[in-house]
Amino acid sequence: MTYKIFNAIYLNKNTQKYATPCYLYDQQLLIDTILLAQNSCNKYFKDYNTKIHYAIKANNNLQLLSKIKQHNFGIDCVSGGEIKLALQAGFSGQDIVFAGVGKLDAEINLALEQNIYAFNCESEQEVEVINQLAQKAQKIARIMLRVNPDIDAMTHKNISTGKFDNKFGLSFSAIVKFLPQLRQLKNINLIGLHYHIGSQITNMQVFTNLSTIVVEHFKQLQQQGVTISDINLGGGLGIDYLNPQVNPIADFAAYFKALKASLDLPQTVNLHFELGRAIVAQCGILLSEVLFIKHTEGNNFAIINAGMNDLMRPALYGANHAMLVLNARQDYEKYHVVGPVCESTDVFACNLDLPKLGRGDKIAILSCGAYGHVLASTYNSRTICQEYII
Ligand SMILES: *Cc1c(COP(=O)(O)O)cnc(C)c1O
Repeated sequence: MTYKIFNAIYLNKNTQKYATPCYLYDQQLLIDTILLAQNSCNKYFKDYNTKIHYAIKANNNLQLLSKIKQHNFGIDCVSGGEIKLALQAGFSGQDIVFAGVGKLDAEINLALEQNIYAFNCESEQEVEVINQLAQKAQKIARIMLRVNPDIDAMTHKNISTGKFDNKFGLSFSAIVKFLPQLRQLKNINLIGLHYHIGSQITNMQVFTNLSTIVVEHFKQLQQQGVTISDINLGGGLGIDYLNPQVNPIADFAAYFKALKASLDLPQTVNLHFELGRAIVAQCGILLSEVLFIKHTEGNNFAIINAGMNDLMRPALYGANHAMLVLNARQDYEKYHVVGPVCESTDVFACNLDLPKLGRGDKIAILSCGAYGHVLASTYNSRTICQEYII
């Protein structure tokens, strides 16, 4: 099946009414992705109580959120603003898990008020502050401790989170050391451990390695007299940025299978997953238009009207996105595709073979549904572009 979002003829005909640059989301692709994620999870973990929490920071569009909510996802938030948006989209407190190394008092109070499922705590001091605020609010806060397992996610260093030099989580030995103090905190209920080691992970062995460590930690806690009811394995499943049309849906089966391979836990343990990118990345494109073509010594520039303020991933992580040119020209030329922003990193592609371009030609930058619009800024006093569902 070819999705609308990858169909140049469809897009050319049906998107004339949208001013560029703009983000377009393919609802059918989102729904197919959601269903496959749920089915794969249920298939590999059929004996467990499971919940996939969508990581809202990947894309916080309310229409997409309500579709995700309709399909029984929970939600993973990293700020009070995200908690408010999740509630607005119809999620309940019990659907919410809340991570982040720097939770504000006001955010903690909001989460307590909403009786969220769990705080994913990242430092000893954070747990103490949550205890104090919970005491004031006369609540018991359910928490999971975020473990930094010091494993290599084998992804870009800027999106690795599970090594000791990353700011995230606590080492397992620090957690064990913290247990006696934790027992004194009357308004804290430790329900589990949380892990999230990075993003755009494409080597499935990484997830099997993670599960092995999780089981070890579970057993070591048991030996300390602490039996936890929940394990949160985080997210990080990568997508195919090179060939989105060939692989429009992430390989959820491989992901859950890899986690299951070494996850030898009692079936009474509730399992949580937090997928962001893999749910929404492929269903979104950034539609833009060629402003000018410029030939300089040895270089061909196609200057488009979308910039790094609209899509920051290439400038931020050196990310590559495939592109679809909507004209139907047969002869090709190599272009540096660049934006209008006054920064040398405002570049979307170097020496990319594309159908010969002219002013006004439309270019769709693919795989922009995750970490696209949410990272947009008004840099250069540009406007934040619109989003549409097709
Ligand atoms: C960002 C984030 C995720 C989602 O990561 P993806 O790579 O988009 O799947 C999951 N959990 C936590 C705690 C996060 O911060």
